[in-house]
Amino acid sequence: MRLAGKSALITGGNGGIGLATARLFVAEGAKVAITGRNRQTLEAAAAELGPNALALVADATDVAAMEAAVARAVERFGKLDIVFANAGIPGHTPLGGTTREAFEKVIRTNVTAVFFTVQAAVAQMNDGGSIILNGSVISVLGSPGYAAYAASKGAVRAMSRVMASELSPRGIRVNVVAPGAIRTPIWGAAVATPEAEKAFEARIGRATPLGHLGEPDHVASTVLFLASDEAAHIQAQELFVDGGATGAPSGAPIYR
Ligand code: NDP
Repeated sequence: MRLAGKSALITGGNGGIGLATARLFVAEGAKVAITGRNRQTLEAAAAELGPNALALVADATDVAAMEAAVARAVERFGKLDIVFANAGIPGHTPLGGTTREAFEKVIRTNVTAVFFTVQAAVAQMNDGGSIILNGSVISVLGSPGYAAYAASKGAVRAMSRVMASELSPRGIRVNVVAPGAIRTPIWGAAVATPEAEKAFEARIGRATPLGHLGEPDHVASTVLFLASDEAAHIQAQELFVDGGATGAPSGAPIYR
């Protein structure tokens, strides 16, 4: 068990990548507090995860709610060893078709809320802990229509480096996991029906050197690695889990 005796907080732990990570953490011996806004999916996740999980309704953009969630997690499981700031939203923000509100919603959720999640958590964290932020390949791909989202994930990378500097004296590591396209509900209409999902899968596969869409477990196992002692000397890094999409784009099937 790679996380025996550890306690963890995962924001957005009621679905997609966050829930896959919570499952793996519990299987590896951790006690895990998960947060999200949707009470129903949180309760379903907690029922599935069992007694070593605690589900807490908390909007990550609400600083007081996150502080309260951290306090409840600590009360139940003791001081935190691991934080996965995973909650995030997509957003279509093309030049010429975007309101300030739409743009700022993405920044508020994916940047400001991540900062305040970490701020609330570090006050209740053991020295020597591990913080993982969820980034994205979109931060480097220049994908059209994604200005706010790309900026938010670039900001996540930049913030992680500052946090790593500030927290190194306490032995707390801060790293980023940067997924490529992963099969989760975040893709909305693109994965809403079996036909749409099939077309999406084929499109992503053609643009990915390894030839297929990523699964939540691909990211969860990377987060587990970064959270565990196996990554004890890894600090301020960004690990891409994208089948080669950013590192070797010319190897994608469309170029063969
Ligand atoms: P999902 O939509 O499946 O999950 C998003 C999670 O975030 C949900 O649990 C949701 O819960 C939670 N969440 C969203 N907004 C808030 C909020 N304001 N407060 C609390 N919780 C919130 O998406 P993924 O699992 O795919 O996404 C997880 C992370 O991975 C995101 O940061 C995303 O940007 C990143 N990512 C995903 C990729 C992909 O292809 N799937 C690729 C690259 C990065 P609730 O609705 O209950 O609030």
